[in-house]
Amino acid sequence: MSDNTLKPDILVFGGGIAGLWLINRLNAAGYQCLLLESGTLGGDQTLASQGIIHGGLKYALGGSLSSESESIAAMPDRWRSAMAGDDPVDLRNLTVLSETQHMWSSGSVASRMTNFFASKMLRGRIDKLKRADFPSALADNAFKGNVYKLDDLVINTESLIDTLSAPVRQRLLAYDPARDTLEWNDNGLASATVNGVRIEPGLCVLAAGNGNPALLAQAHKAHLLEQEHSQLRPLKMLLVKHDLGHRLYAHCVGTSNKPVLTVTSHDCPDGKVVWYLGGELAEQGVDRSDQEQRAAGRAELDKLFPWLDFSNAELATLDVVRAEPKQENRVKPDNAYARRDRNLIISWPTKLTLAPDLGDRVMALVEEHGLQPCEPMTLPAELKQAPMGVPYWHRCF
Ligand SMILES: Cc1cc2nc3c(=O)[nH]c(=O)nc-3n(C[C@H](O)[C@H](O)[C@H](O)COP(=O)(O)OP(=O)(O)OC[C@H]3O[C@@H](n4cnc5c(N)ncnc54)[C@H](O)[C@@H]3O)c2cc1C
Repeated sequence: MSDNTLKPDILVFGGGIAGLWLINRLNAAGYQCLLLESGTLGGDQTLASQGIIHGGLKYALGGSLSSESESIAAMPDRWRSAMAGDDPVDLRNLTVLSETQHMWSSGSVASRMTNFFASKMLRGRIDKLKRADFPSALADNAFKGNVYKLDDLVINTESLIDTLSAPVRQRLLAYDPARDTLEWNDNGLASATVNGVRIEPGLCVLAAGNGNPALLAQAHKAHLLEQEHSQLRPLKMLLVKHDLGHRLYAHCVGTSNKPVLTVTSHDCPDGKVVWYLGGELAEQGVDRSDQEQRAAGRAELDKLFPWLDFSNAELATLDVVRAEPKQENRVKPDNAYARRDRNLIISWPTKLTLAPDLGDRVMALVEEHGLQPCEPMTLPAELKQAPMGVPYWHRCF
């Protein structure tokens, strides 16, 4: 071994929620890990997410609980344990934006859902609110629908990236695919050479989100992971910066089994609030130009909140792509995904919420591989730290 070769137990590609959660989890178990990030930490899907840590009830909008909604029901409590310091991943410094996510509906939709929401199956997970407890944006007398409270959290994603990066900051390394090289062999990834430093990992985790397809293409060329493919789901999100003061964290239920609109609220550096809009608006928005999406968003807000005046609001769009393991008929996957082939573990959390599930799955694969933790390493100065990502609402306006 030359002086410039490092032999970590595990090399992780990607510094979004998946990679950062995993390096913290593996680090807590005593493994020596390095993480390579080609952009900024959190800077792709994770900082673009709405930060809702949900127990799957939004998938119950069709009027029944699917396997997807059952499998993630335990996740909000897993996050709460980590926030209390009772999990190998320490989230005690994580900032919560809202302890609950609301769901609102109006007229005919309200009556269709009432019996189901009141059913025994959902008891304790969803509560109908009295008008006095409605969030301020829905407290106007002109609003005639119902509001429910879900047992979900909304977290500050910037604080999530900070909290997960801090304990392992020196090990989160800048990686430049145009300069750095990967070498594959029959056992998987033989080495990564980063700014001249050769890294020979015991195991390698592909947790690069939208970057996984390019890494998989390299592996496929070396006749590895040939069965593994991803699916990409584009969204056109809308950011609405206003000075109405209301903070809303809520899904609007329409006639389909998906939320018409999902609203979360975030702070801009100038003190104004941004409503970040997803749901069907963002899914259908991929067929619209930016200008058309802004117009569609304004029309939707005027329809759903006729008592609020958004005429002075600034609107911006954000094109972002969700990356997931490939599914039959492009349905959304049910769980986090992790599979090992030789020294490669390919992973997708599929949702921020499912990061603890991903951690469990990857940890089981690492233990099954029988990896023995190596001695702590000293990192050479050639390895530079990956930069931190910046939330979109800090740079869209
Ligand atoms: C608009 C939107 C809203 C969402 N809202 C929610 C929500 O409210 N709740 C929820 O549970 N989920 C939500 N999700 C899903 C969730 O955000 C994603 O499932 C999750 O963030 C994916 O994390 P990740 O680490 O796999 O990917 P990412 O966060 O995209 O991280 C991957 C990282 O890998 C890096 N990378 C790429 N290629 C390479 C390479 N070759 N080498 C090294 N690094 C590389 C990228 O730069 C990036 O930083 C949302 C997603 C979107 C897009």
